[in-house]
Parts: sequence; C-alpha cells; structure tokens
Amino acid sequence: MKQSEHFETLAVHAGKSIDRATGAVTPPLALSTTFERGADGSFPSGFSYARTDNPARRSLEQCIAALEGGGRAFCFASGSAAVTATFSLLRPGEHLLAPAECYHGTLSQIRSLFAPHGIEFSLFEGHGAADLEAAWRPNTRLVWVETPSNPLLGITDIAAIARLAHAHGARLAVDSTFATPLAQRPLDLGADLAVHSTTKYFGGHSDVTGGVVIVRDDALTQALTNLQVLGGAVPSPFDCWLIHRSIATLACRFRAQSESAMRVAQQLATSSAVDKVYYPGLATHPDHALARRQMRYFGGIVSFCVPGGASEALAAAARLKLFTRATSLGGIESLIEHRASIEGPTTRTPQNLLRLSIGLEHADDLIADLTQALAGS
Ligand SMILES: *Cc1c(COP(=O)(O)O)cnc(C)c1O
Repeated sequence: MKQSEHFETLAVHAGKSIDRATGAVTPPLALSTTFERGADGSFPSGFSYARTDNPARRSLEQCIAALEGGGRAFCFASGSAAVTATFSLLRPGEHLLAPAECYHGTLSQIRSLFAPHGIEFSLFEGHGAADLEAAWRPNTRLVWVETPSNPLLGITDIAAIARLAHAHGARLAVDSTFATPLAQRPLDLGADLAVHSTTKYFGGHSDVTGGVVIVRDDALTQALTNLQVLGGAVPSPFDCWLIHRSIATLACRFRAQSESAMRVAQQLATSSAVDKVYYPGLATHPDHALARRQMRYFGGIVSFCVPGGASEALAAAARLKLFTRATSLGGIESLIEHRASIEGPTTRTPQNLLRLSIGLEHADDLIADLTQALAGS
C-alpha cells in the first residue's frame, strides 16, 4: 500500500505489515530475546538479540518516526529514561538550559543524576527567547523546553528557540508529551530532538510505561543508538506492542480529549468557585496566539486554581465522582491531581492548583461533576 502522509493513515499503517508466516493482520508478538543465526554466522532475520533490536520495537519506532515527520525514533522503558538519554548527550563541563517550570521529575533528574557528574545547568524563568538569552553561557550545549508545560500549560515558541540555540552552537530538545505529534511536530519547527513520555497519550490507556526520543541528525542517531543499545533502558516487546496498537486511535482520542478539555476550560472560566484557569485554547491564556500558530489541537490538560489553599483544593477534588484522584495523564479516563503534594517540598506549583487530564467520557458529564464538586458539599 502506498502510505499517505496523513497522521491518521500513518498511525494505522506505518511500521506494520501482514505477517508472512501466518497471514496475521495484527502483528504477532515475538517475545524472544534471541534470534537464530545462519550457518555462516549471519543474521538472516535482521535480528540478533532483543536489547539491540526486536520486531515489536522496530515496528513501533518506524511508526513514531513517521508520525514525527521522519528521522529515527528510539524507544525507552519510560519517559524518564528518554529524558536521561537526552541529557546523557552532554559531557562534563557542558551547560544545560532548562525551564524552571516543567515536569518535576525532569528537574529532579538534572539535580540528582546529572549535576553530580559535572553537567552544569541553569533554570530560566518564563519561556521567551529573552528569558533564555539572559541565562545563556559560552558552554551552553543543550536547551530543554517543555511545551505545553506542566502544570501551567505555558507555550514555548519552538522555532524561535531553535534559531537562538543554533545561532549559539547548541541543540534544542523539546518534551512534546502534552502535545503529541498530532498537535505539533518539534523537528519540523527546527528542534533537534523531540521527546515524549509514551506512558501518556501514545499508550493512552494508563496500562503501559514508555518513552521515545526522535532525531534526524546522523550524529545524534549514532549517539542515541549507543545510549539505547549499550545503556539498555529498553521497553519490553509487549510494552512496544501495546503502545503501537494504541497509536492507531491516538488521533481520535486526542481530538476528542482536546474538544472536551476546551468545553471544561470554558465552563471553569465562568465559575465563581474558580480563581484562575490555565488552558492554551482559551483566548485569555497569555500564550494563546502562539498556541494557535504552533499547535493543531490544544490538548486534554486543564489546570485551575480554587480560592484558598491546599485543603480547599483537596476538598474539591474529593467531592468529584467521575474524575479519579491519581497522577499521570493522557488516558481514556479523566483524572484530577493536586500537583503540589505529589511534587513534594521543592514544588513551585500553587497549593490551590488542580490539574485535570480529560478522558473520553462525555464532556457534559465531566462538567456536571466539576460543577457539583465546586459548589461544595
Ligand atoms: C510523565 C512525564 C514524563 C516522565 O515520563 P515517565 O513515563 O513517567 O517516566 C516526562 N515529561 C512529561 C511532560 C511527563 O508528563
């Protein structure tokens, strides 16, 4: 079949073929860790050992690379392992620039795993080019941005930051987890690395952990091959199989979740029981114009603040019946999370903030549940 460039078509077909041995339409799951060699010592199947490469991972990586617009995808056992692989591109004495507001685990990794090995870093406030330039150093080699950001849904101008990074001889890595390649493709905008926690929207069903890094440049491809194969933080074939099967419905899920999130955000914005709503699809969001330019969909994450502090936020969350109180995001079921308490004592997240991950329930039901919870007991 000639594959079209449309996301939906690639999501169903890229990296897949009918199994020659059985005719199976759904790819069979090969759990084998090792593959038979030819009598002459060759590897006739193209596989030798599962950590190096295996059928389920290769298929998934081909699919994700196609969705991100080309290059090579490297799958890891978690989003965190994908972040680790990206930061491992730095040498001691080199400087990393990262936003002060981003996924808490990423900042913990920089502080706990990389700083002790001589990676220098600065955290910049805001997300404009001027904010980064102020923190720039002569030895800055990698810029990390997360857009939309966690948990305040700030939007970074990927193309502008890529130009700035390249002008200074640095690379740009974008954590695009909240957007998915349906909504934005960082490599098309000039970024050198796109990173996702596939635990979230790619997996989409809250039942598999994974991560991926996508690159186009040959030197990065070589470096990431080493980090993946020698480092060995690889996903199991079953994890890959689950993520690949879920990608087929990613566009349908993400569009529906974005649509419902917009309705929920609009409703929350009119509520007298809400102080502030953070959603890039709202015209009142400070980065709304940039989000419209950069993203095809605004995504399924909505954060909001209730009047009061942690106890008022926790009490409102406790009154919800449809939303489950749990961390993570991107699944089919709606979740609510009090970010400050999961991030611990170093958190910068407002204590009265709640983050919603909108699932696939009917938006009317989600809005009714939020309305009753915010009205009080
Ligand atoms: C969840 C998440 C990660 C970490 O991914 P894991 O799969 O939990 O290791 C990194 N970045 C963002 C934006 C995330 O939401």
